[in-house]
Amino acid sequence: MGIFKDIKALITGMGITTKHLGRHAITLQYPEEKWTMPERSRGIVVLLSDKETGDLNCTGCLLCMKACPTAAIFVDAPRGEDKKRVLKAFVVDNTLCCFCGLCEEACNFSALKMAGMYELSTDDKSTLIWDMKKLQLMGKDVPYEDTRKKKPVKKPAVPAPTPSENIVNSKTKTDDEQTAPTETKSEDKTDSPKDDKE
Ligand code: SF4
Ligand code: SF4
Repeated sequence: MGIFKDIKALITGMGITTKHLGRHAITLQYPEEKWTMPERSRGIVVLLSDKETGDLNCTGCLLCMKACPTAAIFVDAPRGEDKKRVLKAFVVDNTLCCFCGLCEEACNFSALKMAGMYELSTDDKSTLIWDMKKLQLMGKDVPYEDTRKKKPVKKPAVPAPTPSENIVNSKTKTDDEQTAPTETKSEDKTDSPKDDKE
């Protein structure tokens, strides 16, 4: 029985080899040719900006910082007078990052993504600590799906006109109505004699 199994495996293997014989080689001639990373690949952490305003989507909620197992993220976002967080600093130390993607999963505001980028090697470790500006710049052209629920813009409430304003408005309306036809009449009058003379 064992021998038949081996022969079957051999034939299967040979079949796969023959299938690839006539195909074009898939080896990339790096660095002349570069591979586009798949959409969901975990390359490097970048910050995402709003597609309309260009502002960072980050609300400074600190969830990514708390989720990071290697303490590679530092977020400084103290609360302002209105109790809202103000994002002052966002730093990612790429020398500590293990590319686990937990920060991206923790973020509820489409503010952070592991972009499919590579070729970031350097001999100066200090250049791998990215601040908010660098993170925003790196994430500028990174495509992403905006899952935030935007609140509709509230129109400022218009105060109801007072009774005195109502009277003024109605007066001005009637004045306009009275003056409008007389102006057109006078125009007609001035035009007509001239035309006659000509
Ligand atoms: S990918 Fe993982 S290790 Fe890297 S910053 Fe995000 S949570 Fe931290
Ligand atoms: S990137 Fe996301 S999770 Fe991290 S602080 Fe900003 S909004 Fe919060």
